[in-house]
Amino acid sequence: SDFFLPAASTLQDLRRSDNAYSIARAAVNSTEGSGYRLHQQIKSAFQAGEFFAHFQPIIANDLNSLLGSEALIRWNNHGQIMGPETFIAVAERTDLILDLGYTMLEQVARQARAWADMDLALYSVNTSVRQLTDPDFAMRAIDIWENHGCDTINLKIEITESILAMDHPVIRSNLEQLRKAGISIAFDDFGTGFSSLSYLDKFPVDSIKIDRVFVQKLTAGSNSRAVIEAMGLIAQQLNLDVIVEGVEDQASLEQIRGLTPVTGWQGFLFSRPLPAQDFEQYARQFPGKL
Ligand code: C2E
Ligand code: CA
Ligand code: CA
Repeated sequence: SDFFLPAASTLQDLRRSDNAYSIARAAVNSTEGSGYRLHQQIKSAFQAGEFFAHFQPIIANDLNSLLGSEALIRWNNHGQIMGPETFIAVAERTDLILDLGYTMLEQVARQARAWADMDLALYSVNTSVRQLTDPDFAMRAIDIWENHGCDTINLKIEITESILAMDHPVIRSNLEQLRKAGISIAFDDFGTGFSSLSYLDKFPVDSIKIDRVFVQKLTAGSNSRAVIEAMGLIAQQLNLDVIVEGVEDQASLEQIRGLTPVTGWQGFLFSRPLPAQDFEQYARQFPGKL
């Protein structure tokens, strides 16, 4: 938020002005403040190769096949495995997020290559705004993927609403290059932001991921049913795949099934995010996977 809030408000001012660009300032270079020490730690952890991916299975609609996985970044901090909530926001304030992003792509590509026999259709990788404003992002992502001998058709980049809300020419160009190369794009945490639906048909998106907040509120008898149904309709109209996240129990799954067609399921009901080796073992229960 240290980065995004000033950027968003600068953007708002810019829209009311005649200027072509404006520079948002966040106090990222301050050596005081809570983030600095952690930032230094993340930097040396990156240099020491302490970041790696966990893989969470994505199950096909019929529940009998494995579509693929979402890669989720982890930090092996001297044996303690730390999740992204502890470091991603800090990394995002600087170019460190670029290093972490490319590391993730490298690792996922290496795994995809090693798992070629499993024929997984989908390797989903998360990206931050800062990565997509790097003019080289699409080219480097494609290079990494192809240099490992992987097919771009199996790579999916997950982006969030805030990215589209910025409607940035470099972001647009990156997304278009990715799409042209056969890489698909998922709209992550769908419905949780404050952007308008108009971004959906303005950008080359292939799928939406219905956020777990909607799934988890289902049982509380809230408006979630209607919201999920509506999101499903939008996806159908725009010809987008639907992945439902954060499915923790069979009852929610059945309920959602009754509301909308689903392409894939993801959640603790099936599996938590797993280290590569465990993912491989998990995958073996499905027919035709090794
Ligand atoms: P996300 O993209 O929405 O990823 C899904 C998060 O939901 C993961 O948390 C996953 O462990 C959790 N989850 C999956 N199934 C369930 C479930 O059934 N119940 C519950 N309660 N949670 C579930 P994680 O791994 O802590 O990741 C948090 C966020 O960090 C991600 O949210 C994503 O926005 C970000 N992130 C993760 N890896 C990367 C990365 O490589 N790059 C970037 N830029 N961001 C990443
Ligand atoms: Ca995601
Ligand atoms: Ca998500």
